[in-house]
Amino acid sequence: MGKLKVVVDRVICEGIGPCAEETKYIELDKRHKAVILEPGKDKEELFKEVAEKRRQEVILDLTPEEEEEIFRAAEACPVNAIFIYDPETGEQLYP
Ligand code: SF4
Repeated sequence: MGKLKVVVDRVICEGIGPCAEETKYIELDKRHKAVILEPGKDKEELFKEVAEKRRQEVILDLTPEEEEEIFRAAEACPVNAIFIYDPETGEQLYP
């Protein structure tokens, strides 16, 4: 398992959606903005919590396959609204 900090900029996000097809960790809310699903958190509560946020930041514990999916999701975003960081060093890994 590896950790990645995943950030969705909900201002940049235009709700186009291909990110959500790449990973189970991202879904679109009713405003068609991407939401990172946080393990152990109720989805509806989470949607409410992030509704007014400009950015959602989550540290995810991922298998190597899930890490690849997260990178594919970020790469699929046509407006680069998804950012990935190493949570330990703060290094930006994508874009
Ligand atoms: S692909 Fe980008 S613009 Fe589309 S929903 Fe995902 S984050 Fe938002």
